[in-house]
Amino acid sequence: MVGPENKHQLSPRQRERVENFNSLREGLLAKGFAEKILTVSMLKANLMVFVTTLPAVLVLYGLYIIVNGVERRSYGGSGFLFILALLLGIVLHELIHGAVWAVYCKNKWQSVHFGVNWATLTPYCHCAEALSIPKYAIGCAMPTILLGFLPYLFGLAFNHLPIAHFGLLFILAGGGDAYILWLIRKEKHSLILDHPYLVGCIVFYPNRQACVEQ
Ligand SMILES: [Zn+2]
Repeated sequence: MVGPENKHQLSPRQRERVENFNSLREGLLAKGFAEKILTVSMLKANLMVFVTTLPAVLVLYGLYIIVNGVERRSYGGSGFLFILALLLGIVLHELIHGAVWAVYCKNKWQSVHFGVNWATLTPYCHCAEALSIPKYAIGCAMPTILLGFLPYLFGLAFNHLPIAHFGLLFILAGGGDAYILWLIRKEKHSLILDHPYLVGCIVFYPNRQACVEQ
């Protein structure tokens, strides 16, 4: 059971998520799945960019300079446009998570919730159904591929620094998602369920008894 001791600190929406989570969890445990809780604090998830995506961004930025040279041109009037694009990108990042998971969820968009953790100003997307690891992982990685790697490669190929910068920032922003992917890398045959109110998830893996029964 998740967090009955601090249930009064949760918002009504979070309490609803806890109830949904607990009923799904009980169903999976009754089917013989064993669980492993993989949660991190919002602070740790944000700090993980230093070990997950920051090294990749530094290497890719180096590659950009090797290919296209150092550019001293400023953004000029397009600075405002760049900031607008970043804000739009932050919203799109969560929408892309949601769109992929909605495709895989039985109840589609009804099982996808969006919100903002105001304490750390971190927007999030929550999936309320248990998904197989590959499906969950695709939804986890897709925003970084579409908003990070694709614009970076475009900027690299066409020597367009603002677009490359945009891509690099959104690769960096995928640090928390990359950390979750790292945590679930060995759980290929499991199901995964987002934690109802913490960063991270619960992995349900078929234990030996469940394998015999299936
Ligand atoms: Zn994300």
